Parts: sequence; structure tokens; C-alpha cells
Amino acid sequence: MRSCLILISAAPTTWVSTPSLPAGAAGFGGAGFSFSDVMDAFFGGAATGRGPRTRAHRGQDALVRLQIDLRDAVFGAEEDLTIDTAVRCGTCHGDGCQPGTGLSTCAMCKGRGEVQTVQRSFLGQVMTSRPCQNCHGYGSTISHPCFECSGEGRVRTRRTLTLKVPAGVDSGTRIQLQSEGEVGTGGGPAGDLYVEIAVAPHPTFTRRGDDLHCRIEVPMTAAALGTVLPLDTFDGARDLDFAPGTQPGDVVTLRGLGVTHLRGTGRGDLIVHADVQTPTKLTEAQQDLLRQLAALRGEERPVGRVAPTDKGFMGKLRDAFKGV
Ligand SMILES: [Zn+2]
Ligand SMILES: [Zn+2]
Repeated sequence: MRSCLILISAAPTTWVSTPSLPAGAAGFGGAGFSFSDVMDAFFGGAATGRGPRTRAHRGQDALVRLQIDLRDAVFGAEEDLTIDTAVRCGTCHGDGCQPGTGLSTCAMCKGRGEVQTVQRSFLGQVMTSRPCQNCHGYGSTISHPCFECSGEGRVRTRRTLTLKVPAGVDSGTRIQLQSEGEVGTGGGPAGDLYVEIAVAPHPTFTRRGDDLHCRIEVPMTAAALGTVLPLDTFDGARDLDFAPGTQPGDVVTLRGLGVTHLRGTGRGDLIVHADVQTPTKLTEAQQDLLRQLAALRGEERPVGRVAPTDKGFMGKLRDAFKGV
């Protein structure tokens, strides 16, 4: 199974490999005050430069899986995707305030988003600052939350978008749709939507790389005499030419009838494997005919030459010593 990422957007690329840390989760979080707090206390920074946190956060990336037919992987397709994501609230346009109202400056921190406390420690007096509990560090509060989104600035909704699946995708291919993921809180930008492709198994054709493979039954007599057999391919009916003396496992290759190369041009091949069928349930007349044939070929008592099933380890070893 191959795995690759296709970017579908004309906008500047933003690659996102891991979800970003939630705001405020950075650094020495759990201890009550951070290294920078201590440094601020020593060098007089006093935490004045940081200011309140922004309410707008980038939305989460979303991943959906899409199953397609092998034919769609060969030629590409357009698929309608129905997804449940968060979109910007239409009532408050993302700021979370009821129409006609706005954000109020936090009374506790006066809009700074953090409160300072002085602590005694073995270092002397240390001034620490921590996010304001009242406004969660935003410096402002929503006194009249939007009734549609409860102040979050976004609502969940179901929407349908048309995805152009490029020819050549395989199971595991991920298509990135920029800014089609969840909209962030507080009017923040949307994350990206990733669509992971799964190609459904086909009853006839198996894919290996960009080649397609299938088996076709060839009666023993036809294999011996040579024959032409019809095959329905994704490109319509084709004739398969089996030469006289076709052996089990011999292949007929139809060039360029495989899967389209995802990167670059052209297509793989369609490779048809001969499955030579030995007849069963012969009538007396058929047995007589075959015995006559065997007699003509001097095969009434075949010698039965023996060969290994495959080379394997010992075979390779023997080959290696043959040259010595
Ligand atoms: Zn709203
Ligand atoms: Zn506050």
C-alpha cells in the first residue's frame, strides 16, 4: 500500500504534520510560574510585553475516508463528500457576541489578560504573572454570548463538497484540501481537510503498482494450438493473442491499459496470466483421441523429469558454487 499526499489548492502551501499545541500549553506550564516569569522578575521585564491572548484559534484539521472503485482510481473521478464540520457562525460572524453587543474589557485584569502576584522565595521576592482566571487570559469577556453558537463563534453543520479525485490514486493516498477543515473558535481560520482514499477490491483486476493483473482460463487444447480470447478491460473489449504452445502462467501484456501514473503521464500495463485448464471428465472418445496424440508424441510412458519447485536457499547456494 502506497501512501502519499496530494495538495489541491492554488493558495500558498501550509504543511501541517501535527496538531499545534493549544494556546497557553507551552513551556513549564504546570509549576505555577514559568522560566520567563522568573527572568522577567530578575531583569525587570515584569511580563508587560505579552498582552492578552487572542480569541481566534486555527481550527482542527479533519480526516475523512473515501472509498472509490478501481475504475475511478484508473481514470480519476469527481466525488461528492458530505462532511460534518464546524463552520463560522452566521449570526455573530465568529466573534461570539450577540448582534449589537461587543466584548467587554475584563474588570479583573483591566484587559491585560494576566494578573501579577508577588511571592516570597529563597531567591527573594519573585513577581509572577499568570493568566487571568476571570477572562482566561483573553483580556475581555463576552457579556452577551451569541445565542446561536453560545459564544464559540462557530457552529457544527453538514455540508457537501465536490472532490476531484486525480487518476492514479491508491489506497492510502491522502488528498489535502486547504482550509476545508474545521473553522477555529473566535473567528479563527479553518484547518485543512484530508481525504484518505481506499480503493475497493475489484472482482477481476488486481493492482500491483500501476499495473493491473488478471487470470484467464485457456483450455489445454487452445493453449497448445494457440487462440484469441476476448477480454473486457476498462477501455472496452480487447483481443488477447495466445501463441501456440502457451504454458501455464504465460502472460499477454496490454500496454498502457493499466492505472494512470499519479505523477507524470502515461499508464501502467494490463497483464493477463494464462490459466491453462487440463480437461476433466473425458468421454471414451476423447480419451481415445488423447491416447492417439500421446502415442504420436511418444508420451505413453512419460519419464517425469524432476525439478525443484523453486530455487530457494539451497538452489541459490548450488548456483553460487556452480561458477567455482
Ligand atoms: Zn454566534
Ligand atoms: Zn481578565
